[in-house]
Amino acid sequence: MTSTRGYKIISTKCCGAVFTTVRYSSINFSAMEYWTDGARTHSLMPTDGGLRECKCGNYFLLHQTLDVGYEEERSIPAALPVKDEALELVLQQNLSPEVELVVRRRYWRYLNDPYRDLYRAHRDEFNKSTKSFSMRLLALVGLRKEKTANLNFTVPTYELSEQQRTNLFRLLELTDQTDSDFWLEKAEIFRELSQFDHAEAALNHVTTDDTTTYQIIRQLIGERKNAPYRYRM
Ligand SMILES: [Zn+2]
Repeated sequence: MTSTRGYKIISTKCCGAVFTTVRYSSINFSAMEYWTDGARTHSLMPTDGGLRECKCGNYFLLHQTLDVGYEEERSIPAALPVKDEALELVLQQNLSPEVELVVRRRYWRYLNDPYRDLYRAHRDEFNKSTKSFSMRLLALVGLRKEKTANLNFTVPTYELSEQQRTNLFRLLELTDQTDSDFWLEKAEIFRELSQFDHAEAALNHVTTDDTTTYQIIRQLIGERKNAPYRYRM
């Protein structure tokens, strides 16, 4: 379970504005859907990258603030989260590389959302038709307990718009500017751009290679597939 305990009082570095943020005592990482681009649906943990708008109009990340206190009952309001629809406008502001990275990562997932709808509809349709087909077939041959045939897993064609490509190239630049380990994310970006050799090279730098996400991305690179994929943990 994700549970919370009291509120942390934080102060921003831009103008010293004070906000509160929920204190998590435990976090559940489960979600309904996992996607290779990092998107999650019905996630029990926040997935907004901690991006907030300050009173002065500046954008900041929750982990970049100063910890200045604690309160049991919330009396100081929270900083405003940034809605997906506002990301495009936020990108026109003067942002630090750390903040821009979070904004562009969220923008990447946001721009992939229409594709997710296509994907879900395609898979639902596929599952419906194969289910009724295999039911009929099984009834016919009287093998009700037999497993259904292993049919090829198909997804709709994934084509990037100019806007998506520009965002992904900039995202790659930003990951190069920071010290953090973004190799798996870079492999996924190169894969979506259909630059499979670069994707493979990036993947070779990943040190934690036993995760489900890693395994799926590796398989998709091998199969030369560029679409975002949905999976379950
Ligand atoms: Zn400020």
